[in-house]
Amino acid sequence: MVFYECPTCGRNAVLCTCDALSYADQRLLISEISGEFSDLEQAISVADQESEAHNLRYIAAMEYIFKNAPDSLREEIWQAFRTAFGIEADYRGPNGERLFSLGTVAAAMGMSVAEVRAQAEAFLEPGDLPGLEEITRVQ
Ligand SMILES: [Zn+2]
Repeated sequence: MVFYECPTCGRNAVLCTCDALSYADQRLLISEISGEFSDLEQAISVADQESEAHNLRYIAAMEYIFKNAPDSLREEIWQAFRTAFGIEADYRGPNGERLFSLGTVAAAMGMSVAEVRAQAEAFLEPGDLPGLEEITRVQ
């Protein structure tokens, strides 16, 4: 397994949840970790194993699954995310709806911001993001 010492707790930053690394460093680690998966089944088992911890290994597994899953499964993952996601909203909309930055969604889903933007554009009506270039509406 990839090892990178966490500057906060000194354990493996891949497994801890200190969130002490920069976004760029996290992305580097995530791509290294996802390179360790050999098939979808393995990635699903890791995602399941780490789902409570929600660490970088979990994100990498989700990224691997998302990249390698058949389209129907991808759709399911995205729907589940949209309806049941428990992360803190970055912003609240005028009616109290939870709004997430593309960066938050990308990190949570193990996707690049460009991928999240493409997904958001595919799911949202044109005009749902007026002036909210950085924000995607989840619910
Ligand atoms: Zn740590």
